[in-house]
Amino acid sequence: MHDWLLELNAQQQAAVTARPGPVLVMAGPGSGKTRVLTYRVAWLLAEGHARPWNVLAVTFTNKAAREMAERLDALLGTRTRGLTVSTFHAFCARTLRREAQFLPFTASFVIADEDDQRRLLRHIIRQELQLDDKVYRVPAVRSAISRAKNEGHTPETFPRASYRDEVVAKIYARYQQHLAEANLLDFDDLLLWAVRLFEEQPEVRARYQDLFRHLLVDEFQDTNAIQYRLVQLLGQAHRQVFVVGDMDQSIYRWRGADYRNLQRFEADFPDAEVIYLEENYRSTQNILDVAMAVLHVQPRRHRKNLRARRGSGPPVVVKQVFNEEAEAAFIAQTAVTLARQRGIPLDSMAVMYRTNAQSRPVEEELLRLGLPYRLVGAQRFYGRREIKDLVAFLRLAFNPDDVASLERVINVPPRSIGPRTWAALREQAAARGLSPGRALLDLAAHPEAWTAALSRRALKALFPVGEMLQAWHWRVGELSPAQMLDRIVADTGYEAFVRDRTEEGEARWENVQELRRLAVEYEDQGLAAFLERVALVSDQDTLQGQEQGLTLLTIHAAKGLEFRVVFLVGLVEGLLPHNRSIEDPDALAEEQRLLYVGITRARDYLFLLVPQYRLAYGGLDIVEPSRFLEPLAPPLTEGDWPRLFPHLARQLGVGERRSASGRAPARASRAASRPAPRRPRRARLRSGDRVIHPRWGEGVVLQVEVSAGDEIVEVRFEDGAVKMLLADFVQKL
Ligand code: ATP
Ligand code: MG
Repeated sequence: MHDWLLELNAQQQAAVTARPGPVLVMAGPGSGKTRVLTYRVAWLLAEGHARPWNVLAVTFTNKAAREMAERLDALLGTRTRGLTVSTFHAFCARTLRREAQFLPFTASFVIADEDDQRRLLRHIIRQELQLDDKVYRVPAVRSAISRAKNEGHTPETFPRASYRDEVVAKIYARYQQHLAEANLLDFDDLLLWAVRLFEEQPEVRARYQDLFRHLLVDEFQDTNAIQYRLVQLLGQAHRQVFVVGDMDQSIYRWRGADYRNLQRFEADFPDAEVIYLEENYRSTQNILDVAMAVLHVQPRRHRKNLRARRGSGPPVVVKQVFNEEAEAAFIAQTAVTLARQRGIPLDSMAVMYRTNAQSRPVEEELLRLGLPYRLVGAQRFYGRREIKDLVAFLRLAFNPDDVASLERVINVPPRSIGPRTWAALREQAAARGLSPGRALLDLAAHPEAWTAALSRRALKALFPVGEMLQAWHWRVGELSPAQMLDRIVADTGYEAFVRDRTEEGEARWENVQELRRLAVEYEDQGLAAFLERVALVSDQDTLQGQEQGLTLLTIHAAKGLEFRVVFLVGLVEGLLPHNRSIEDPDALAEEQRLLYVGITRARDYLFLLVPQYRLAYGGLDIVEPSRFLEPLAPPLTEGDWPRLFPHLARQLGVGERRSASGRAPARASRAASRPAPRRPRRARLRSGDRVIHPRWGEGVVLQVEVSAGDEIVEVRFEDGAVKMLLADFVQKL
């Protein structure tokens, strides 16, 4: 018996120590699925069932992968060396590089990020096919192509039901052609080529099946069809596949995720041991009750009850505010109060929203008050111009065929290469069967061969770029990523370009330094690995441990994470559920799960915020509270629920209460609250009193606390549950 097994409950232990073979762990949020998966790896290694290089553990984000690897190091030390913990995408990228000899591209392929895809599609739609990009919108075309790829359609087999489909198929064909010419793969390609590799090369497949004979996958409900196929292909030989998931937390349907993969797994591995975890270690019972109510949990085959290991905790608060600004003010005030009075560090508080744009008012308020915060989202760092420029240079050094990168930086810093010169270069390169980047290399080596093809002016501008490119490309194997970056910054004069003596220039230069720090970490792994890291960065990866302050992030990005305090903002019709989803029942159900995921990130305090007005075209629009809050009548929540749903409140006979959040001084939001009747300062109840509650039945008061006008009681009910409630919700017997 390893002593770390004692850090698990009996069900968790059963999962961790299940005999090697297919295992399916299905359980609700906070029940320890990720912990169980991590300990399973430790157990396999410690028991000698697997050598580290025989294990592939798949996580949803790179951040989760890092954390899992760290945890395993802490459990086993050096015995984990050689272990692969990675996302599906990163695993596929590595495999494709290693096995490039079997594939129609070279090992130095570069991953096209969303931005590259968009730029390429815009070029095809506007320039090459001369289409109206209001009709053929880039994001729509991008997702149509992605969908086609994931359904296994090539441009030739792309389903054509309309003229529009014909055109999209044509765009798709060009898109693929451009990617191939530039030795680029998009995110979908990474997975698809890996599947093709394993399907079409039995020898390679067998080698990988033997190598990764223990396969473990976290967040299985958010795998898509291609990822599922990968699991099948890798796992079918040894059948030592361990997956964990929760159907109710599937929130990536729009990206092709399919929670039915959990059921497919049961069908494909009928001998799988199925284990349920029923204890929640993360949240208080009050928070779990609210989460369940939002989901309207019906008894289901795969769902058993989730019990909180922790007490009932403070009540969940529903708070109505005037608008987004009032929402932000409430958050700031409450956060400060909780930090001061309860000693909860800001680091363990989070503000979650449906769409990225909702962070703005919160950011502004926090800035105004000087409260530290960290904003999660790839945009923050990797979206910056200077970072994209330098990454483009690095990519070019590695792969001169990368047209998207070349187009981005050929005139950065400005060196008189305008659209006309660029077009001429492209054209002349194509005439010689070269990519524009290769043409530049050739031009630097034999400028005389290009004098007929290009104007003197163009040649003069292009030649130094070719020379730089050549110098970098030759040294790819020799320089570390950081050295290469230094070289690029020096050769291009990038420092002088960004440090323009303004504050913004300094900030840009700091970002360059930050990129360099990151590059230093890749000293041993080389440029390819570094570029991969940059390309596969997900929203969560921008959340760095050492930064301090409140975390601001979308609910999607909060997957798998936990915080002591959670503020969910903008809980109104149109935002959550989002407008786009209201008509489609499946999409609507996913929005509901999204709220469920958000709620279940909270450990102690949960605030559900509902603005009354939103800024709309030129004025303020009244908005309706989110329909998903309807089931949260008191006593499930405290605060403004009766005011949000007066009809329901009347039916249920729950009266309007003064907002429980009155305990946190919320200046700006006070404008939104109607004057509330003052309540007695002296406690009405005493410990030992017998009380009755409309939902929980009879109980005994254990403790009474009066705080800022609210009387809060702790009651033990007859079924043993202990709850904290507002005294108004119980009646003295
Ligand atoms: P999600 O569905 O949100 O991904 P999960 O099921 O993966 O949640 P974990 O993140 O593994 O849950 O665990 C939730 C929290 O509970 C973590 O802080 C974890 O350390 C803690 N935890 C899990 N199991 C135990 C246990 N047996 N003893 C103490 N703490 C535990
Ligand atoms: Mg988890």
